[in-house]
Amino acid sequence: MPTETFEFQVEARQLLQLMIHSIYSNKDVFLRELVSNASDALDKLRIEALRDDTLGADVSDLHIEIEADKEARTLTVRDNGIGMSHDEVVQLIGTIANSGTAKFVRELKEAKDSATAEDLIGQFGVGFYASFMVADEVTLVTRRAGESKGTRWTSSGEGTYTIDTAPDAPQGTSVTLRLKPADAEDKLYDYTSPWKIKEIVKRYSDFITWPIRMVTAADSDTGADEEASEGQEAGPREPETLNSMKALWARPRDEVSDEEYHELYKHISHDWSDPLEIVRLQAEGTFEYQALLFIPFHAPHDLFMQGYKRGVQLYVKRVFIMDDCEELMPPYLRFVKGVVDAQDLSLNVSREILQQDRQIQLMHRRLAKKVLSTVKDMMTGSPERYATFWREFGRVLKEGLLSDFENRDAILAVSSFASTHDKEELTTLQAYVERMKEGQEHIYYLTGESRQAIENSPHMEAFRAKGIEVLLLTDPVDEVWVDAVPGFEGKQLRSIAKGEVDLGTEEEKKEAADEREKRQEEYAALLTWMSELLGEHVKEVRLSSRLTVSPACVVSDTHDVTPALEQMYRAMGQ
Ligand code: ADP
Ligand code: MG
Repeated sequence: MPTETFEFQVEARQLLQLMIHSIYSNKDVFLRELVSNASDALDKLRIEALRDDTLGADVSDLHIEIEADKEARTLTVRDNGIGMSHDEVVQLIGTIANSGTAKFVRELKEAKDSATAEDLIGQFGVGFYASFMVADEVTLVTRRAGESKGTRWTSSGEGTYTIDTAPDAPQGTSVTLRLKPADAEDKLYDYTSPWKIKEIVKRYSDFITWPIRMVTAADSDTGADEEASEGQEAGPREPETLNSMKALWARPRDEVSDEEYHELYKHISHDWSDPLEIVRLQAEGTFEYQALLFIPFHAPHDLFMQGYKRGVQLYVKRVFIMDDCEELMPPYLRFVKGVVDAQDLSLNVSREILQQDRQIQLMHRRLAKKVLSTVKDMMTGSPERYATFWREFGRVLKEGLLSDFENRDAILAVSSFASTHDKEELTTLQAYVERMKEGQEHIYYLTGESRQAIENSPHMEAFRAKGIEVLLLTDPVDEVWVDAVPGFEGKQLRSIAKGEVDLGTEEEKKEAADEREKRQEEYAALLTWMSELLGEHVKEVRLSSRLTVSPACVVSDTHDVTPALEQMYRAMGQ
């Protein structure tokens, strides 16, 4: 097959340009990304070989190899994992699947300074393309397990890449970087230096469960052993394993640094930023398991898109079993990342088994509770972190009010809402209840598109006049859960846009009712006339106590859907 030349997808091309021009200052992370991909590929091969005994792949010595050649200024990261077919290479390396990419690249180009750009890249992560921060040419040779022919991919990152057949490629993938000239000013280190490689692997990839071995070309300077390099031009040295391969979740808390936890998080989540919070759980007894979970700092771009992969990684006795194990995390906690390692499951456990397994259901419940109690602790112990959490994940957490009855109170307890009480600060329901006026029986709210829209609503007038606090709910999901949740601490949630709202003390209410009855008679003729005029467009025309300034307003019946919800249903095609 002749050499084929392909163009990168538009977003991929733009992202590569940014990588080549290196707006990310910590270039060392390119190696972390390559090692992370190699580790994923080994996991995948092991699982596939377990399921398919006709695969014919050698799984006896799965490992990652890093080879540096100082003379040629190349660095190769090699694995004997799953590999990629010709089509997979085109699809996986030539395009970026992440649905948020276009938006991300746009934001990145508009970023005002390098700190903002760096933060954005950190949130997104660029994986394989990070190679182009340090290399001016990248060659990937790969053969998928079970296939006979391999594929070679080469690119300088400038618009196009080429693909050839690689007839004798070994199974797995090797990625060779032709390094840019070392440049002290640009903080580009010499990535062929063994100590530098060791340091990077130790820092970022120590916990990787496969051995990461370093081989150096004979004439490389190891900095230590001068003699050994003589007379060895023909081949590499003895490989040296660089990582300890220790499972972080199995080690005592005080033996593991936050940095180590963070690097594991980055490997699992493909996020480049540190997590917001670490959640650890060690369950002992008849069903033993360890969980190491992370709440990210930023909501991923595709959190609300179809096909978002939720769930944590499942291990059984330190052996990786699957990614995105949905059975362990409820959908409203789909942003949680991490590892759960169970001692008593079979290594062959399948999704079907997991769905019915009672132990898994118990783990699911316990993990959900643990995450919620961690959020609660954040709320009291670290309000700023909690505020970040709520900004990023409040919208998705509230979905739990509709689906997880058992934890409804726990979710309500960690929820906060905009309110007329304060222009900026959010309030908890607890704080709202504590501020309730004498005689006020309900928690009042109004839903709408924005805070401003709600505040301008005529429904607000009476409440403003009486100084009664109203929650201002602007997320689409708010429309739905408010009807499903019976209340908070015995107080009902009441929309001020629906039905009759009775403000004030018993006495005042009675007075108002009498007054209204009198008025109703007075205005009977007018109301009948308006009803006839508006005809089918309204159910009823009545006098109201809710307005102080506006002459009239449209309200829904207590059980009607609100206009915003009607819109949401319509958008969903119902
Ligand atoms: P991510 O790892 O977040 O998916 P990357 O840019 O790092 O993104 O990699 C893109 C894809 O290319 C991976 O999802 C994987 O399917 C494939 N890939 C990358 N490196 C390897 C490798 N060493 N072996 C097999 N597949 C790989
Ligand atoms: Mg990757």
